[in-house]
Amino acid sequence: MTAAYKMLIGGERVGSETSLDVINPATGKVLAHVPDCSREQLDQAVRAARQAFPAWKSMPIEQRADKLREAAAVLVENKDELKRLLTSEQGKPHDEAEFEIMASAYWLTSFADMRLPVVVNEDTPERRSETRHVPLGVVGAIAPWNFPAVLVYWKLAPALIAGNTLMLKPSPFTPLTALRMAELLSDVFPPGVLNVVTGRDDLGPWITSHPDIDKISFTGSTATGRRVMASAAANLKKVTLELGGNDAAIVMPDVDIPTVAPALFWAAFRNSGQICIATKRMYIHADIYDELTRAIVDYAKTVKVGDGSEQGTMLGPIQNRQQYERVLGFIEEARENGFRFMTGGEVDQDAPGYFIPVTIVDNPPDDSRLVREEPFGPILPVLKFDDVDDVVRRANDSEYGLAGSVWSSDLEQAQAIAARLETGTVWINEVQHLAPGTAFAGHKQSGVGVENGMDGLLEYTVTQTISVKKPDGAA
Ligand code: NAD
Repeated sequence: MTAAYKMLIGGERVGSETSLDVINPATGKVLAHVPDCSREQLDQAVRAARQAFPAWKSMPIEQRADKLREAAAVLVENKDELKRLLTSEQGKPHDEAEFEIMASAYWLTSFADMRLPVVVNEDTPERRSETRHVPLGVVGAIAPWNFPAVLVYWKLAPALIAGNTLMLKPSPFTPLTALRMAELLSDVFPPGVLNVVTGRDDLGPWITSHPDIDKISFTGSTATGRRVMASAAANLKKVTLELGGNDAAIVMPDVDIPTVAPALFWAAFRNSGQICIATKRMYIHADIYDELTRAIVDYAKTVKVGDGSEQGTMLGPIQNRQQYERVLGFIEEARENGFRFMTGGEVDQDAPGYFIPVTIVDNPPDDSRLVREEPFGPILPVLKFDDVDDVVRRANDSEYGLAGSVWSSDLEQAQAIAARLETGTVWINEVQHLAPGTAFAGHKQSGVGVENGMDGLLEYTVTQTISVKKPDGAA
């Protein structure tokens, strides 16, 4: 059977013998079929990327930048179609989907403006030595299902501006937006510069172990990240891994409760909690615990959960059944342990779609699975503290180190607390502010390497020093 959506390999749109179903998480029904890439097709894609590499890397960077800007314009031109497609496969509301498409375009134009540094190490009568950064070759990019568009461009934009070619694999749960974008962009980039393949669980390991791929840029869970790193070791591929998180928010007693209650709600529940940098543990000072949690619960009751394609929906479903069952497991366990639900906790499992109501759990123990692990869904433990040293210790007591936040009207105090958190990013009085020019990295088991910013761009290069001995007597 020929799949309705096609892969992009060497500039050609290609189907496959068999296909995969893609489910709309708001209905649980099949939405479309996508190709199931064979090993031979993957080899073709890697060959196409390899063949395209010399011309692409030799192209003046200004011309590559123009291609990225052209790609951004294509995304913006097609944003209405792309946002609907993204909502249908991911579940998020239309506004959020549109934000993601626009952010994708912004990442392209921002990286188009970035230039790789050249450092002059020595310029003496004897010698001139320069260090520059050259592209790696073929990059394998592997993306998750929570932000199927923008997280692709976190990889595509720096990889291509630096002069690499790309082999992209979206999540099998959310491949449609990536495939449609590839189709739209097939006239923008020369054949082989951008290749997109979709397939089953064996496709990822084929990519990470492929001998002719030079680097893997992976975003996904910590468990898969470990497998990716082990597999990439075979030919010493470079890796950038953006993995899971268990972000703590520390809320000091001097906050303005009516202002922070909605902000804290969205910190935890945006995208139905399916964000690596969602607040997943909320530590609230004992002096304001009751009043603030009441305000968050009251706000939660005003938020409409439903099909993302319907007007007024603010939170969509869980993206896939596997994840839905995982989140149900956290709710069940909380109930069995006698934890108190401040709101939520009742799931209508007979209703269509993978919907879980906003669920807030009152002060569960620090060693409960809900506090230690990343549920990646709309369930939040709120926790009480009364001592700053103790809350910093509790926040840092995690194998994760992605991000965190501090909430206080005393910015000096907040910055002092922020500096003590063992995470790649700490926000004060906000969360999830990300920018193409700002480095984003996971400490501990939340990642290896950096995305975004100059540090992130350099991850798509190798360092080369050229040292010239000047002729004798040169001035
Ligand atoms: P996942 O690890 O299950 O899958 C991610 C991708 O890896 C998918 O494309 C999947 O098909 C592929 N994959 C699965 N097994 C593989 C293997 N053995 N080798 C190579 N590829 C393989 O993650 P997910 O469930 O799609 O995403 C949710 C996770 O991603 C959460 O833990 C979340 O915190 C994390 N995440 C991290 C960031 C970040 O920037 N740090 C951003 C978004 C999501």
